[in-house]
Amino acid sequence: MKIICLGLNYRQHCIETGWQFPVEPVVFLKPDSALLKNNKPFFLPDFLENIHYEAEVVVKISKLGKSIAAKYASRYYNEVTVGIDITARSLQNRQIKAGLPWDLAKGFDGSAPIGTFIPLSEAGNIDNLDFSLKINGKTVQESNTSDLIFSVDTVIEYVSKFYTLKTGDIIFTGTPSGVGKLNKNDNLVAYLGNKPVLDFVIK
Ligand code: MG
Repeated sequence: MKIICLGLNYRQHCIETGWQFPVEPVVFLKPDSALLKNNKPFFLPDFLENIHYEAEVVVKISKLGKSIAAKYASRYYNEVTVGIDITARSLQNRQIKAGLPWDLAKGFDGSAPIGTFIPLSEAGNIDNLDFSLKINGKTVQESNTSDLIFSVDTVIEYVSKFYTLKTGDIIFTGTPSGVGKLNKNDNLVAYLGNKPVLDFVIK
């Protein structure tokens, strides 16, 4: 399966990181070995420093598709959750500065924790989903998918021109503002609406 991720898809996050607003979706992949499920702990790698959380709405592809028009995209996913795009920020910044790919800074083992998937029929309108992240009981990120620069359906149209989407692939749709550093013993709880879907600790 593929883990497809969107960068710079919320204006406030572009501003906090000093990027211009993108004119087309910014896409990168994580390997399947990055996936972390069932609320398993995340172990801070000892060879990386300044590891950041990025809470994101994640959709799961339910059907094979290629070159999917945005108006039909909703037929290709039916479950949603929240995941954390864990990022080695210092390494990523060094790579960006040098004009090099940031794959390693985004794709190391365990860098894609995901919550329990909720049927969209239960979660509601994909373009109007509240989500948030609490660390040690304090809300650090809070947004709504209506603030996405590129909507989920637009992203699917764009990405599926390049990559055939397969059942079980997942898409991290981008993070809002409020990203920050993870510390040992942090407890992360991510919410879709009021429902906690992901709850894990940093070790
Ligand atoms: Mg991200």
